Amino acid sequence: MLKRYLLTPGPTPVPPQVALRMAHPLVHHRTPEFEQLFAEVQEGLQWLLQTANDVLILASSGTGAMEAAVANTCAPGDTAIVVNGGKFGERWLKICHALGVRTVPIEVEWGQAVTPTAVEQALRAHPHARAVLMQASETSTTVLHPVEPIAAVTRHSDTLLIVDGITAVGATDMPMDRWGIDILLTGSQKALMLPPGLAFIALSAKAWRCAEHARVPRFYFDLRRERKEQQRHTTAYTPAISLIYGLHEVLRLLREEGHAHIFARHARLAAATRAAVQALGLQLLAPTAPSPAATGVWLPATINGSQLLTYMRDRMGVDIAGGQDHLKGKILRISHIGYVGPFDVITAISTLEMALARFGYPVELGRGVRAAEEVLLEGWPTPRQPS
Ligand SMILES: *Cc1c(COP(=O)(O)O)cnc(C)c1O
Repeated sequence: MLKRYLLTPGPTPVPPQVALRMAHPLVHHRTPEFEQLFAEVQEGLQWLLQTANDVLILASSGTGAMEAAVANTCAPGDTAIVVNGGKFGERWLKICHALGVRTVPIEVEWGQAVTPTAVEQALRAHPHARAVLMQASETSTTVLHPVEPIAAVTRHSDTLLIVDGITAVGATDMPMDRWGIDILLTGSQKALMLPPGLAFIALSAKAWRCAEHARVPRFYFDLRRERKEQQRHTTAYTPAISLIYGLHEVLRLLREEGHAHIFARHARLAAATRAAVQALGLQLLAPTAPSPAATGVWLPATINGSQLLTYMRDRMGVDIAGGQDHLKGKILRISHIGYVGPFDVITAISTLEMALARFGYPVELGRGVRAAEEVLLEGWPTPRQPS
């Protein structure tokens, strides 16, 4: 038997108590019992996204919420400014193209964060742009983009700021209302510790004005219809009932931990991972603006990254993500988002050290683990001495 560890930035591991909750016998969704559960979950999501706006629950993967964001605000022929610094930035472009929305891409080198100045300049050149589309955390390059200063620019304009918060919400501070984000969306299988299948989206008053009037074709993702139903604690179509039971338990766990602890936990695990890989002499993919969700690492040029990852997964039981497109085989991405703790970082680093050694790369075993431990140790209090 090979014990398996899932250390990819989505899907992420599901806590056992959440898995148990999802085994709850199905109840019909048009019942007072389910509506009560739904109301509690809605309130929990407002806490999570730090917003007084309605947070709508969709039965789809995260991309469904991305499409819904564009489809409810940008009409064919409208212009959207798109921060394109990785796979998920590219997805915004593809969604816009599919919906006939013109795009002004801001090309950002993979591994770098966009600058607020670049967004400001694009807005000045395209003052009638309907929206700025960006990721908070670009999971493919493990970069954290600066949402707050960009929101400071868009909030005084007619342009909407639409943020894909899929590996940011629940991992790092992303206060929708305080920062002035117009649309914030996320999905279930990253920080939210659930299986894939749910997406969440909240719109500001400014975004709702746009959604009410935008002349765009939409049906399943018509957020006007969905809001009308969800304000009565029900959904337009059949909700993903079992996942919503799990979500109820997830929100309970997260609220018990509290925002500050959740963000500090992710920050510490990320810092420990960065320290460890650097101690092994490896370079970070995103040294200047690293994401709290995952850490991208350049592999030594002599190593075939795809073979290394397959070896770690199939021989060592540890599933770590690789790179996409031109980064395939060249990087790996160690996840530290969701149901993760210090010993998941230790597992990942120890696996990496041993796999590198097996592939002939000169590593001093334990060096990365030691560097991680030094950072992780700061997270534990000194025990009280017996009096
Ligand atoms: C995972 C992810 C998505 C896509 O989500 P799906 O659930 O696969 O549709 C979008 N954006 C970011 C930043 C992600 O990490």
